Amino acid sequence: MDYNELIAFTENLDRSSFLEAGYKQYAQIDEPLPIGFGQTISQPSLVAQMTWLLRPDKSSRVLEIGTGSGYQTAILAEFSGQVYTVERIRELSDRARDVLDSMGYANIHYKVGDGSDGWSENAPYDRIMVTAAASEIPEELIDQLSPGGRMLIPVGPRDVQELVMLSKDSSGEVYREAVENVRFVELIGKYGWG
Ligand code: SAH
Repeated sequence: MDYNELIAFTENLDRSSFLEAGYKQYAQIDEPLPIGFGQTISQPSLVAQMTWLLRPDKSSRVLEIGTGSGYQTAILAEFSGQVYTVERIRELSDRARDVLDSMGYANIHYKVGDGSDGWSENAPYDRIMVTAAASEIPEELIDQLSPGGRMLIPVGPRDVQELVMLSKDSSGEVYREAVENVRFVELIGKYGWG
């Protein structure tokens, strides 16, 4: 994945398509915004930074937990092979799918349900991106990561979390590294906040 291509793509991606009518006028501002149902879309600079840290390539199979508006999904779909995205709120998943279909992405697979235990049917994944905050890293997600794979996940309580990068080497050994503090909505489900 090329950094300049990523930045050019995110700069040209119209965030207003992913926002509700009342918020479209704020699309250009680099701030998180509400997307309905108490959920938020992250600021574009963080989405770009997280995508760069995840470093997918055109052969990657990527699992995303928390489709939300589909904004992060679009960027993953542009730079990955296949994207498997899970969202627990059906209305958000359907809305994201409409936008992403209209953009022409045919490499995105959608699931409505609890993604805190991943999406085992299509595992393993080369990359996993979690865009909701977990209390700890779900063991199922680690299991569904390929050797040589990488996962980004915000870990911690409601007010502030540590963005954790977990990598798995070719022998299956797991390494964990804290990137920075972030603030995401909660991961709700079996391995989330309940
Ligand atoms: N990446 C999104 C932002 C998502 S906000 C974007 O670019 O717009 C986090 C999303 O995670 C919310 O839509 C929330 O409903 C979803 N979520 C929370 N817990 C979940 C779970 N257990 N499984 C799937 N989705 C979940």
